[in-house]
Amino acid sequence: MNDELRELYQSVILDHSRKPRNYGELHGDDCRHVHGDNPSCGDEIDVFVRLDGDKLAEVKFTGQGCAISQASASMMTQKLKGRSRDEAGKLAGAFRGIVTGENRDTSAEDALGELQLLEGVQQFPARVKCAMLAWRALEQAVSTDVSGNVSTEES
Ligand code: ZN
Repeated sequence: MNDELRELYQSVILDHSRKPRNYGELHGDDCRHVHGDNPSCGDEIDVFVRLDGDKLAEVKFTGQGCAISQASASMMTQKLKGRSRDEAGKLAGAFRGIVTGENRDTSAEDALGELQLLEGVQQFPARVKCAMLAWRALEQAVSTDVSGNVSTEES
């Protein structure tokens, strides 16, 4: 990562962790809620999704923890709001590829926008869990019919 990119990365992460977007809860029959827990860092994220048919009509989160976990969640809500379940799954897969460096789907990565800045966490395995926490909760929220919990210790 060059200096310019590193500065951009830091300012984007700080901005989102200090002023999280779509912060809050959603409740109702058409809403799913999954709690994500990353004990190795102490991050906790609650992801809320309101589904309208196949569409993620609203995506919100609450949580506490390190800047990467909160910024990743904040950027994720912005990126996935209004997408179909299929699109959300593809973006989640592309994001996983970027932060783990495995099974990369370069054709889908451009659509991630500033989330691509999180590629830097690849070098820090413990941070990968922080970056993925909200996404794992989101994937569970849209793939099942029940609310639940995910923990980074499970995989
Ligand atoms: Zn963390």
